[in-house]
Amino acid sequence: MTNFTRDDALALDAQDSLADFRGQFQLEEGLIYLDGNSLGPLPKATMARMQEAITVEWGRDLITSWNKHGWMDLPRSLGNKIAPLIGAEQGQVVVGDSTSVNVFKLLAAGLKMNPGRKVILSDPGNFPTDLYMIQGLREFLGDDRVEMRLADETEIIDAVDDDTAVVLLTHVNFRTGRMYDMKAVTEAVQAKGAVIVWDLCHSAGAVPVDLAGCNADMAVGCSYKYLNGGPGAPAFVYVAPRHQDKVIQPLSGWHGHAHPFTFDVDYTPAETASRYLCGTPAVLSMRALEPALDMWGQVDMRQVREKSVKLCEMFIELVESRCAGHGFELASPRDAAMRGSQVSFGHRDGYAIVQALIADKVIGDFRAPNLMRFGFTPLYTSYADVWDAVDRLVRIMETRAYDRPEFKTRAAVT
Ligand SMILES: *Cc1c(COP(=O)(O)O)cnc(C)c1O
Repeated sequence: MTNFTRDDALALDAQDSLADFRGQFQLEEGLIYLDGNSLGPLPKATMARMQEAITVEWGRDLITSWNKHGWMDLPRSLGNKIAPLIGAEQGQVVVGDSTSVNVFKLLAAGLKMNPGRKVILSDPGNFPTDLYMIQGLREFLGDDRVEMRLADETEIIDAVDDDTAVVLLTHVNFRTGRMYDMKAVTEAVQAKGAVIVWDLCHSAGAVPVDLAGCNADMAVGCSYKYLNGGPGAPAFVYVAPRHQDKVIQPLSGWHGHAHPFTFDVDYTPAETASRYLCGTPAVLSMRALEPALDMWGQVDMRQVREKSVKLCEMFIELVESRCAGHGFELASPRDAAMRGSQVSFGHRDGYAIVQALIADKVIGDFRAPNLMRFGFTPLYTSYADVWDAVDRLVRIMETRAYDRPEFKTRAAVT
């Protein structure tokens, strides 16, 4: 890569079949946004759709919009748009609540499916909210019903035993981008009689996912990262149809009821995936998510993956060759097959370097203790963007521009 030039990057862009998608996003000229793994940018179509949702649906048609504009069905209609991205069929995915809340529902359901067992197993590098939800469930049900165990990624399969009820894993690690072999891990977990819940927050729209092909039991994920649904956009839930009758989730709100509008005293779960829902859908957030998912409907995930791998490899090679001697250490797997769509480098001054990059319009982020994290999103990131990002990094390192006091003060969100 030492001979790789900006013109080479431009030549790759000229042949890129996904290049036209960039124009569908609201992105400031010159900005290199490598944080779509945290918050995806705004699709232009979302602006008009939101305007209409506010003026026409809410503003004019008011309560009639539940029927007239399909508000009532949004959790299912959006779920159907997510399904093909994660290897699920129509009717098997619903959208609602947050990932944290849905993790709670599925963990509780998984425990109930395995009544003689009490261990919920995860890995210590999992996103903390997932681990916190295990702890909350333990507090609620008591130590004799729930025990949390953690094992490192490479030891997870060996850690599953006769006490393991549920294994909760995030498919792509949020810090390092390391990706589990979903099929192999699912198979091993199930062979020992446990149920697996996959968290797809860093997978949906980032890498091809085949839940059915992997025989996964359950999955959750968010829609505001790679899926570009907007800040706080609702999450999704999947449960394999073979489990549907058995999965009783504890947040038995009326939108999970078989007939919400009969207003029965007793709760009867819907016979469909709607049983994983709880209360009234966040209509405006769902409206914002819709155009983003319609865009994903035109995308071939294999092309996305192919470009994502190239962007990540190019970034790694350029940083390692052009910033050699500046103390960067690759924290992501070098093997693309084991990596999601992000690259992390460890650096002692990581926080300040990320701030200096942001000041130079290259947006990445920082994860304690020392990781600089960069997400690569093929729909709006070009090869030239990667070249330019590294070029600005080189300049920051050579001039020690990161060594300024204002780049060292930690903000609340890093
Ligand atoms: C982003 C993320 C979450 C976020 O959960 P929220 O309930 O939406 O705040 C959960 N789990 C993982 C693995 C994540 O990456």
